[in-house]
Amino acid sequence: MSSGAWQTELDALRAAGLHRTLRRVDSIQAPQIEVDGRRVLQFASNNYLDLASHPRLIAASQEAAHYFGTSASSSALVCGHMGVHADLEEAIAHFKGSEAALVLGSGYLANQALLTALVGAGDAIFSDALNHASIVDGCRLSRASVYIYPHGDVSALERLLQTTAGDRRLIVTDGLFSMDGDIAPLDRICDLADRHGAFIAVDDAHATGVLGDGGRGTLSHFGIDGSRAITMGTLGKALGSYGAFVAGPRAVIELLINRGRSFIYSTALPPPVVVAARLAIQMVEDDPGRLQRLRERIAYLRTGLEGLGIPLPRDPTPIIPIVVGTAAAATELSAALLDDHVWIPAIRPPTVPDGASRLRLSLTAGHSEGQLDYLLACLARHGVANRCLR
Ligand SMILES: *Cc1c(COP(=O)(O)O)cnc(C)c1O
Repeated sequence: MSSGAWQTELDALRAAGLHRTLRRVDSIQAPQIEVDGRRVLQFASNNYLDLASHPRLIAASQEAAHYFGTSASSSALVCGHMGVHADLEEAIAHFKGSEAALVLGSGYLANQALLTALVGAGDAIFSDALNHASIVDGCRLSRASVYIYPHGDVSALERLLQTTAGDRRLIVTDGLFSMDGDIAPLDRICDLADRHGAFIAVDDAHATGVLGDGGRGTLSHFGIDGSRAITMGTLGKALGSYGAFVAGPRAVIELLINRGRSFIYSTALPPPVVVAARLAIQMVEDDPGRLQRLRERIAYLRTGLEGLGIPLPRDPTPIIPIVVGTAAAATELSAALLDDHVWIPAIRPPTVPDGASRLRLSLTAGHSEGQLDYLLACLARHGVANRCLR
């Protein structure tokens, strides 16, 4: 079989500077990793609390594999909901201050389940323009009418709510935006939802373990009660494991079990992964020092970047975009830094809008001040401040 038709598409991607390749990593995920055979200092991961390599999580996973095996063997509705999954759900509901929670295979799958189960034809979804691709895809699958409002624009959202009907109306937004590092104005969105009779779903993929009191997420960041919105969060980012959850009212969770196709028709998470996530939540609850350390590193780096004249996002979060414009400019700068053994990935369309290609710098609690000093020296040497668009 000739693959010419697909090769043409690949060639076009390459010509546009949008071709993607995988880089081989042969080390544990930590601030220093071995990429394509080179030891580099990475600012690429979502391992915000530096838990992915934690000895206690590794030991707990090993023990879980010993007692419960390596696989859940089927969807939870077919071969039973394993006790370790139920325990994790209880811990999540407690952590998030919600009535109940459900664990799903990944954040991508959780957004599909959430959006397709809670709304459908005749309903309306209001979605931030910079929401994650998994939300965009969930909206498409839901068959609801989808209204996109400009990023963080509460006035535009209000106008849409005033002029749009729908049996059930759902506002959906990232809590902490993955490529921009800013926080959705959930305080004002909650007011709007109350006044216009809409529900809210918050994607806390990046905010779980990171924002709010003890890392409880974006609602907590604004001092809003966890019961005010349905939240989705991932277990594979700050919590150092894999998978995702939806936390919310009991009726919502029950509906997901009955109607969430990506829950019903997909094998449940392996027990070692589930047990590691459960322990990570306990560690986040017991030891606020880890989150404190992350926040100190964020403040330290922001001061350094400001000193270099590099524009900062408004909110102090571990995600700092360095927007340079074209895809070529972003890949070139990323490659130049890699020669200095610093890895900050280039993010290009369609992940970000055309002309807004960037380096996405992400910090973890595991980075040392010395490592941040080295990063700042490299950014200065490459004249990064002069390459920034905003
Ligand atoms: C990573 C991410 C997801 C998907 O989560 P996975 O568990 O990695 O599938 C969903 N939403 C946002 C905002 C994300 O950043």
